[in-house]
Amino acid sequence: MDFNHYFTNEELETLLPELVSAHPGLTSLRSIGESYEKRPIWLLTLTNTSNGSDSEKPAVWVDANIHATEIAGTTTALRIIYSLLEGYGKDERITRLLDHSAFYIVPRVNPDGAALAMAPQPRYIRSGVRAYPWPEKEEGLHTQDVDGDGRILQMRIQDPNGDWKISSLDPRLMEKRSPTEFGGTYYRLLPEGLIEDYDGYLIKVARQPEGLDFNRNFPFQWRPEGEQEGAGPYPASEPEIKALVDFIIAHPNINVGLTYHTFSRVILRPFSTKADEDMETDDLWVYKKLGNIGTEITGYRNVSTYHDFKYHPKEVTTGAFDDWLYDTLGMYTFTIEQWDLPTEAGIKDRKFIEWHREHPHEEDLQILKWVDEHAVEDAYINWYEFEHPQLGKIELGGWNGMYTWRNPPHCYMDAESARTAPFALAMGDLLPHLRFHTLEVTPLNGDEYHLNLIVENTGFFPTYTSQQAKNRKVARPVRVELELPDGVRLIDGKWRLELGHLEGRSNKLDVTAMGAASPTDNRARVEWVIHSPKSSKIVVKVLSERAGTIYQEVELAN
Ligand SMILES: [Zn+2]
Repeated sequence: MDFNHYFTNEELETLLPELVSAHPGLTSLRSIGESYEKRPIWLLTLTNTSNGSDSEKPAVWVDANIHATEIAGTTTALRIIYSLLEGYGKDERITRLLDHSAFYIVPRVNPDGAALAMAPQPRYIRSGVRAYPWPEKEEGLHTQDVDGDGRILQMRIQDPNGDWKISSLDPRLMEKRSPTEFGGTYYRLLPEGLIEDYDGYLIKVARQPEGLDFNRNFPFQWRPEGEQEGAGPYPASEPEIKALVDFIIAHPNINVGLTYHTFSRVILRPFSTKADEDMETDDLWVYKKLGNIGTEITGYRNVSTYHDFKYHPKEVTTGAFDDWLYDTLGMYTFTIEQWDLPTEAGIKDRKFIEWHREHPHEEDLQILKWVDEHAVEDAYINWYEFEHPQLGKIELGGWNGMYTWRNPPHCYMDAESARTAPFALAMGDLLPHLRFHTLEVTPLNGDEYHLNLIVENTGFFPTYTSQQAKNRKVARPVRVELELPDGVRLIDGKWRLELGHLEGRSNKLDVTAMGAASPTDNRARVEWVIHSPKSSKIVVKVLSERAGTIYQEVELAN
């Protein structure tokens, strides 16, 4: 597999079934729904089916490419799939992961948007292709490839009131005009495009007709258009989002979720809408621990969206996937913004959002130099004259953003996915997992037997995943059931009972050994007295929504 590559829908149609047929018993493929343009939304399930089905095991959710142009995530999702399938039976950890747990992976949530982004004459939209909120094209400038070279660049138009000038550091670059500066040659910069209903004077930047943002359409504090742009007419109104929501609701065995986006090289966690202080404190500690595991693996910083990734200091976003999954279902979820051109070019610890509004112009040169030195093809286009059908003589040039800013240049995709894919495996290491610690039969007088069961959770997470899940009552407590054949009856104890939840190690985060206490709160014990007239076999079944289901047969005999 070549991971210095971006996969088209057509390639996925061939590749995904191939992966399944090459690894029978480890993976299966299904479409969980259709996009607006009727493309399948593929989900791969990965687990060793010979020792239990996926729904009887704890699970990790992974998705990618919900935003149309963020196709880097698809490559990373494929890398996760590939490393699990290739490692099974060879690598002890990966074998344990697929024996004990399941991975649900949607490499491309938004095939319609990706098809546009990867077309020979591309269009870059935020999410889905459905026109929203209005079917008509708005008046104003619509971004598109006007000169037909397959690139969408910038238009540079000379204007004494322009806010840009040619850079003093490198004539290819544009530099912001200072507020107190007069008398130079100035320019307006606009995206390459055509103007709908142009009157010859006024250029308004139109909103794209495809105005949806799928990552605002989840049922978390959904708000209408006037408050949250692109959120759609109601929560999960879009078929792509409904497919995800329906699948996840039907799979309460999921404990953690990772959603791959671009860019910024940052691991984001909930909430988008409120401060850390307003999060369940125990969960915040766990979240920070998980985030730090992510930082160690990827080198990305991990932050709260609310504190460090707000697009506007006084506005929040609602309807995001990670918030929905954690807030409603108590599943620890991260948004991974892969790749960052400024960071790759050596700009350290930049402020993710503020940097785009304010940074030293020298850093623009640093980025351009990096592109030059690393021979990234077609990344920055020197300005050239163009006869625009509406604006007359203008210039085209500047950043060709798709494989520079929005996604890694092709030759950097392998390295980027190699650093981010292992985070998904690490999340699998943390899942709760049930195990029979002790299951013993002791013959009593006559036809009676004593059955002693001790079951334990061997995972880092408890069997309820998070306090939030507990508060929301969305993780059913652990239960035990006995299957008794005819003629066998209970003298003492019940055939079905609730054990409550079993803790993991996530409630033992203190690192001071002095005074430490590690109680066995991950175990539960049950005893029965059973009457069995002749030798018979019974089945002990322990069920947990989040930690899976385990069975064991025991024989009642002297
Ligand atoms: Zn995104």
